[in-house]
Amino acid sequence: MHLNPYGEYAILLAASLANDWPRDREGIIARTREFGMTVAFPEQPHDHARVRGVIDEWLTVVDARDPHERARLLNAQMAAATAYPRLTDHDGEGWHLHYRDDGAVSLPHVLSAVISVGTALHLTTRGMHRLGRCEAGATPGDPCSAVIVDVTRNGRQRYCSVRCANRAAVRRHRARGA
Ligand SMILES: [Zn+2]
Ligand SMILES: [Zn+2]
Repeated sequence: MHLNPYGEYAILLAASLANDWPRDREGIIARTREFGMTVAFPEQPHDHARVRGVIDEWLTVVDARDPHERARLLNAQMAAATAYPRLTDHDGEGWHLHYRDDGAVSLPHVLSAVISVGTALHLTTRGMHRLGRCEAGATPGDPCSAVIVDVTRNGRQRYCSVRCANRAAVRRHRARGA
């Protein structure tokens, strides 16, 4: 399978890390493999904590109040993390684009570059609203804070899971006094 390295997988990887944070560096690496990344990341001190920082910054984009704020935050992240695009054909992946300097191979740096560009591509091709939190969690006391990357056809995904959709439906039902 050939993966376009700045397609959907990058934003889905970010959501996966945010929703199910790995307990150590190996867990992060395993997740990047799961989502199709082939790059070898040289181990550096504080990789785990620094990737957490990348995800926390990305969550400000998730929680932005409107498209302009979302664009401003994402532009700042791309400015900090990315370089001019380069064509590359490493690891038999086929020719594709990298948006980072060839020498910039640390785990947090690569993730910051792919996640910010992947998020920008997702939002501009599918729609600026197709990123947010599970709506079930908007009810006070509800435990869900899952990130939703909406890749559905109609672009109206509101819940992270059937379980959350059902819980919200039960609440609506009760609110109607039935
Ligand atoms: Zn690549
Ligand atoms: Zn949920």
